[in-house]
Amino acid sequence: MRRLIIVVLLLLQPLAAQEVIEMKDTDGDGWPEFVSGEHSAVSPGPLVLKLCEGREDAFASLVLYAADWPNSRQILVRLARESYAVGDSPENTRLIWKLAREAEDIDFRLEAARYYYSVGQWGEAMELMAVGDSMWMSRMSEILKKDIRMARLFASGWEVPVGATTLQRDGVELRLGPMTKEAREVRVGSASLGLGETVVTLPDIGLQLQLSSPEEVDTLAAELAGSQGIVEQLGLSVEGRPIEAVWFGSGSQTVVYFGAFHGDEPESAEVVQEFADYLRANPEVLEDRRAVLVPVVNPDGLRRKQRKNFNQVDLNRNFPTSNWKSEGKETNYWGGTGPASEPETRVVIDLLKRFQPDRIISIHCPYKCVNYDGPAERLAQAMSAENGYSVEASIGYPTPGSFGNYAGVEKQIPTITLELPPTGEEDVWGDNREALLKALRGVE
Ligand SMILES: [Zn+2]
Repeated sequence: MRRLIIVVLLLLQPLAAQEVIEMKDTDGDGWPEFVSGEHSAVSPGPLVLKLCEGREDAFASLVLYAADWPNSRQILVRLARESYAVGDSPENTRLIWKLAREAEDIDFRLEAARYYYSVGQWGEAMELMAVGDSMWMSRMSEILKKDIRMARLFASGWEVPVGATTLQRDGVELRLGPMTKEAREVRVGSASLGLGETVVTLPDIGLQLQLSSPEEVDTLAAELAGSQGIVEQLGLSVEGRPIEAVWFGSGSQTVVYFGAFHGDEPESAEVVQEFADYLRANPEVLEDRRAVLVPVVNPDGLRRKQRKNFNQVDLNRNFPTSNWKSEGKETNYWGGTGPASEPETRVVIDLLKRFQPDRIISIHCPYKCVNYDGPAERLAQAMSAENGYSVEASIGYPTPGSFGNYAGVEKQIPTITLELPPTGEEDVWGDNREALLKALRGVE
């Protein structure tokens, strides 16, 4: 670095010959000039920047050197802005703003925060502000609301109390900062969201929301997503097709809906998909409820228009129940090589663990009835009253390893198997909309 300064001084030889050289910003442009007696030279800053171009070590030395100059903040801000403006390495720019984080100077930090905000690194900006004071936080909250997802948060009661540097609601704290924690990606519309153990991240604006209470992560994500819902990949089918859930809302009860356990029952997937669209358009029906929809459990079967999965296993006989059996490989009801041998089955099992549903609706066809397993008789009757289908306690033949046995009988989660009428005969979505909403609300 010293070499560079010497180069500059040589370029300014008449002055260099003088005995006392000061550096002062005499023209107020933010750059100091070399000043000696009556004489002053042009600001060396832009020239030095040019000499440093593409040389991060030289730039780093310049920054460290400049930090000791009088009115260093102005100079550094100027350096940062120019290095950013000329498309220099973002590393160079960051180097200067790092100094801002350590500086006591609130204006310097604010300048750095503005920079991070302008380049879509809101988390960095928030961290710079959070070490300031709550006045800056409340100003930043106005900026944050420009993001539709953050606006939804503020609308659902999160706020910055006087004197605080975090968002708070009902004793839960939300710290805003740069993305530092592990998070798995989910989708909200065309944007992505990250869900971690204690964090939700917004990668497109470089913001991490860290919760003081880890069990609030899903609720926070649902609030950010609003009526669009969250699309989450649960796992992959045998052939590697994604199995996705779309989930909406939060509240005291969770209801899970499954379609297309069987690939030759496409209308079951269509009804779940229609229900997802309905929930997007009518978010008010979700009050105090979380709805988790899996339109297609068996994407490989659906693609082939066959009941079973790619391995020729009937997923509805593959669950790890006490009556699971492996007979009939050549039939349409093969239970597989072992309980939960199929990835699709394991996806369903994991989903129940993750979302802990209060009740489950699994849609099939063509028997046109409301079948139930576990403590679900009253729910079955309530749904039957809406769709006019008959209530059936048993489907009429043994179903070892079935999902109803697993979730309803053994886990005692109220489980409805909604059997639609044969393909194409009736308006299955229109006829079942109210029954599905009834399931969402539940019966007393
Ligand atoms: Zn079926």
